[in-house]
Amino acid sequence: MPVITADYGGMKEFVQHKVNGLLFEHRNPESLKEQMQFALKNPGLMKQFGEVGYLFSDDGRVPDIVEHCNELMKIYKRVALPKNLWRVTIDTNPEDCNLRCVMCEEHSPLSSFISELFKETGMKRRVMAIETVEDIFLQAKKLGVKEIIPSTMGEPLLYKGIERIFELSQMHGIRINLTTNGTFPKRSVKDWARLIIPNTSDIKISWNGATAGTAEKIMLGLNFGKTLENVKSLIEYRNIYYSRTGYYCSISFQLTFMQRNMHELADIVKIAAELGVDRVKGHQLWTHFEEMKQQSMKADYESINQWNEYVKQANEMQERFRKPDGERVILENIIPLMEDEVIEVPKEYDCPFLKKELWISATGVISPCCAPDKLRKSLGDFGNIYETSIERCWQVKDIRNWLAITKPNHFVEPVTCVNQ
Ligand code: SF4
Repeated sequence: MPVITADYGGMKEFVQHKVNGLLFEHRNPESLKEQMQFALKNPGLMKQFGEVGYLFSDDGRVPDIVEHCNELMKIYKRVALPKNLWRVTIDTNPEDCNLRCVMCEEHSPLSSFISELFKETGMKRRVMAIETVEDIFLQAKKLGVKEIIPSTMGEPLLYKGIERIFELSQMHGIRINLTTNGTFPKRSVKDWARLIIPNTSDIKISWNGATAGTAEKIMLGLNFGKTLENVKSLIEYRNIYYSRTGYYCSISFQLTFMQRNMHELADIVKIAAELGVDRVKGHQLWTHFEEMKQQSMKADYESINQWNEYVKQANEMQERFRKPDGERVILENIIPLMEDEVIEVPKEYDCPFLKKELWISATGVISPCCAPDKLRKSLGDFGNIYETSIERCWQVKDIRNWLAITKPNHFVEPVTCVNQ
């Protein structure tokens, strides 16, 4: 069969113009019209193109599909399973947050985490010295790390050294991956955007409702209307920067799935599309507190069925409402649950972050995952950045082997707003 397709992506790899089909300019209806008219006027040629076949051509102009798939597999393996450490999260300032989300392990009004930690350790405040951050960037560069995530507990934009982090990112060619609560404190969104957008791969904004009533009951202290305006301004700047430089920083909504907000999931997808947010992602609630147990979408069969219904609605909304550029909003981890998934950690789950990432706490503790504090400690001692280097920890301790041998399916779902 001769094919008419866009000169874009995978389709372009298989269809050679006027060899086994016709190509039109991506997203250009005029160009499509031209090629269709050509096809109608030239049935003989179209027949010839069709005979060249879709799967391969003997003269090599159309690649053999088997060889092509093997090549693709090699690329996927290289990208999806990096031998080297890919990303490092540094918990620069976990105590600093201007909100108190009800589900937050450390800042919820229901949490006694910080007071207990202080009582146990005598520490007054955990904060990573900027010299340590500088040293981590240097080490990360040597190891070929691609991304650094500043504080995933607490609000990273409240860290005193945040400007320096972006300077270091530029200097060492390591992208920042940012999770923020959307309040953009202490300066205008435009000023933040100028600092963040040029060297950040993705900005995740914690988002927990489609209405002020829902979001503000979860993220205590939030002004929903103002946060909406913040996202608009951020996206406006991102788009201008993209058209000027060709560099695209994606923007995501980061949700905590719970009964208190998921009835608005479909509307959150709609808001994302209208604003031009690229991705809506999230994770099921970690129930750090007894009082929150009933909030889980995995609480019982009924809540699981309810969740599955919300997923369906979200998918419908994704189809109905497109971003201003015509693309769909990407939905991530918004997938149906099995009826018996009433536990937080499925046994056969293969965590996507293990063996590729490291977490370094404000006190220098190195961890292979970002589980809630107690669970993370139960994984073992991987050293401290003040006593060892990332490289030694990664190689001498050989976290990769340890994980492969002892915890092949160890699952750690990122907590609160820490999702990567
Ligand atoms: S979940 Fe994030 S934004 Fe909310 S209180 Fe905790 S650290 Fe702050």
